[in-house]
This record gives sequence, C-alpha cells and structure tokens, in this order.
Amino acid sequence: MKRIIAVVLLVIVILGAVSYVLFHKVGVGLLVLEGNKESKTIINIKNDRVPVEVKESKSIAVTSIPVLMYHSIATQAGNQLRVPVENFKEQMDYLKNNGYETLTPEEYYSAMTTGKAKYEKPILVTFDDGYDDNYSAAFPILKQNNQKAVIFMIISYIDKAGFLNAAQIKEMSEKGVYFQSHTVNHVELNGISYEEQVKEMKDSKNALDSMLKQNTKFLCYPVGRYNDDTLKALKDTGYTMAFTTKPGLSSKEQGLEQLLRVRINASTTIDEFKKLIEQ
Ligand SMILES: [Zn+2]
Repeated sequence: MKRIIAVVLLVIVILGAVSYVLFHKVGVGLLVLEGNKESKTIINIKNDRVPVEVKESKSIAVTSIPVLMYHSIATQAGNQLRVPVENFKEQMDYLKNNGYETLTPEEYYSAMTTGKAKYEKPILVTFDDGYDDNYSAAFPILKQNNQKAVIFMIISYIDKAGFLNAAQIKEMSEKGVYFQSHTVNHVELNGISYEEQVKEMKDSKNALDSMLKQNTKFLCYPVGRYNDDTLKALKDTGYTMAFTTKPGLSSKEQGLEQLLRVRINASTTIDEFKKLIEQ
C-alpha cells in the first residue's frame, strides 16, 4: 500500500514537473511573441514619426530669396542677354556646391507667403522668353545637377525658329522645369488698355493650363513694364505672383506682384554672382 502511494505521489510530482515546464515554456514563448509584437509596434511608430519630425525641423525663416533672371544661354559677342554656357554651368555648380536649393514655383510661393522655407538657402532660377538654347544648353546642366528652374514663355513664340517647341516644353516640364506666363505677344503692358492686358494674361494662362495640365499662377512682365491696370488685371485673371526686371533680392514687402530679380549678364563674373545672391 505504502509502495502504491509512493508511486502515485511520484507520478503526481513528475506530471506536475512536466506540466510546469510545458506551461512555463509556452508562457515564455507567448511572452517572447508579445515582446516581438510590441517592439515591432514601437519601431513602426518611430518610423511613422521620423518624416514628420524632419519636416518640422526644416522649416526655416526666410525674409528674402534671390530670383536669378536669365534669358539665352549662348555666346554672342556684345549681347549681354546671352550668358555663355560655361558661365551658366559654373554658376549652377556654385549653387549646388554651396548649399543653395533651387525651388519650384509652388515652393517659392509658399516661402514668400509664409516666411518659411524647407531649405536654409532657397533660390529661384528663371529664364525669360523661352529661347531654344534653354533646352539644348541649360537643360542638360540643370538635369545633371538635379536643379529646378522656371521658364517665362512667350506663348506666340512657341514653335518659332530660335525658341522652344511644344515637344521640348513638354519634355522639360516633366523633368523639373516649370513653365509660367510671359504673356502671348510680349508687348509692354503699360502701353495697352486694361482690356488688352486682361486678354494677354488670360490667353497665355489658358494656353499653358491646357498644354501642361496645370494652373498657371505666375507672370513675368515683358521688359519689366507695368502700371496700375496691370496689377488689377493680374488679380482679375487669377495670377498670384508677378516678376519685374528691377534689381534686388525678392521679399514679401515688395508685394507679390512686383517682385525683384537678380539679372545675370554675359559679363557677370563668379565673384559678382556670389555677391549678388548673398542674403
Ligand atoms: Zn521678355
């Protein structure tokens, strides 16, 4: 009898030990599983938060932004509007190697209206008129440096000799070059009626809107000329910003429809270039 009791007790002890070990192992297993789940969740939360934190920390106060004004990128003795391609490359490389970030029109507009930019040294690169060398000479350099630019296109010049054609405009617009209005006929706006100004602005906007499926909002005054009617026509036709040819760094205080630019000539040296864009 004593022996039977001893065997039963032994069996109970063994079963107890086995079940304890099994339970413990499974229990540990579950804990490990939970632990993994938990740590995965934590990692996910952290990953989700990282871009938000980076974005917030990169909101930098800006009061003025240089807007470079180019026309043609070519060499022609005596023509200051044509900047040799070597000079243009040197200038774009300088921007790239010195922390300047080229903006899109929307980024520029956002920085001007909020007073905050994503970058410490924002800059806007613009070309007036739409010369075909903007495609053959400037575009390869911009692509190579991963830089953005804006071309103020004269709508009636599209497809004309010496100017950009529709295919080039489409190709460039898909690769970081933005097209905005320089009116249809490039007439000096202060010399025509309010109604004629409205037509120049509206027709050029409609042409770019349908060609590039965009909402064109920025205008560049031909030869920098404008009057009070121009400012009214600008608002009435849906533009939010306009650029002059007056020299200086652009800032909100000038008014978004009378923005200053930095003219780059054929004779502008790299030292002059540096001084012109310093803030
Ligand atoms: Zn022009």
